[in-house]
Amino acid sequence: MSNSHSIVVALGTRPEIIKLAPIIRLLGERARVVHTGQHYDPGLSKVFFDAFGLPEPTYRLEIGGSTRATQLGEATRLIGEHLASEPAAAVVVQGDTNTTAGAALAANATETPLVHIEAGLRSFDRAMPEEHNRIVTDMLSDLCCAPTQVSEKNLLDSGIPADRIAVTGNTVVEAVRTLLPEDRSAYLEGHGVTANGYLLATFHRPENVDDPETLGTILSELAALELPTILPIHPRTRARIESFGLGDQLDRLMVVEPMGFQEFLALSAECAALVSDSGGVQEEVSVLKRPVLVVRRSTERPEVLGTFAERVLPGPEISRIVGQWIADLPALHGRLAAIPSPYGDGDAAELSVTAINQLVGTS
Ligand code: UDP
Repeated sequence: MSNSHSIVVALGTRPEIIKLAPIIRLLGERARVVHTGQHYDPGLSKVFFDAFGLPEPTYRLEIGGSTRATQLGEATRLIGEHLASEPAAAVVVQGDTNTTAGAALAANATETPLVHIEAGLRSFDRAMPEEHNRIVTDMLSDLCCAPTQVSEKNLLDSGIPADRIAVTGNTVVEAVRTLLPEDRSAYLEGHGVTANGYLLATFHRPENVDDPETLGTILSELAALELPTILPIHPRTRARIESFGLGDQLDRLMVVEPMGFQEFLALSAECAALVSDSGGVQEEVSVLKRPVLVVRRSTERPEVLGTFAERVLPGPEISRIVGQWIADLPALHGRLAAIPSPYGDGDAAELSVTAINQLVGTS
């Protein structure tokens, strides 16, 4: 196949690898994976390629570890130079990272058709860099793959015409179904916990970890929960805890390194509840049928609010709500088990690739 018929899949962080993996697999030899190195930690990158059985990225760039402006600029420059020397039929990006927006600008500057997977999410919170990244990317995209009708409406409300939108569901559904281990007992034993007898927490967003008081509040709320809490700690969060001198606060938590996807899914599927500021976790719980307490100012995933997710600000509401959930656990899990995921039936990658083929004129 001539190189100009290949499709550049640009990614740089853990959630992008997870949600683009089902698409990369379907594109097969047509996929030219460009990794920007935004997450350069192997625990957030290589283990996810290995888990999905993906080949090594075709090209590796290094934009990681710098300011947001530098990451955006470097992703645009390096991917733009790459597309100029090796043209592609399209560029596919996912989500709302600096890699996403930088690659979108690079596609635009080289007149390469652009596809945005997970388009149309809106937190309506202008303080979040992700909100700007996703809006810029939606506006530049020739094809917006919206996970739900909520995101489709956001795109239409932004003035994007219907013929640039496909409602596909979210590829997270097939990512979870592919990698959720059937037998979870070894993972539970490895952490010394029993099914429904522990909580799982993740935190890394600047609004929660960049201020010592807020981070201290979250850690002490987690320590006050009535079940043991496993905290796979993001490198950014660990660095902040160390620099703020909050290390003692970790003593009452089960702190571990970031987990591979299978292990994280296994522990998510068997826990009493999750407490998190992650975007992807809010979607995964709708497949795994577990509740998540979202600790954030806003969410761009309103589809799960009131069912799989509640949202609170850092503070005493965390232990209060999780305490209520723990007191009513079998009934809560039973209710969630009966609710379908708003993110589709696991055919988002297939629907996205069909729409990509229509865009680039192959079928
Ligand atoms: N995750 C993981 N191991 C962990 C913590 C999270 O595999 O130790 C996965 C989780 O299942 C989800 C993704 O990483 O799919 C979330 O990544 P992150 O919170 O970094 O990004 P966001 O989803 O908020 O954009």
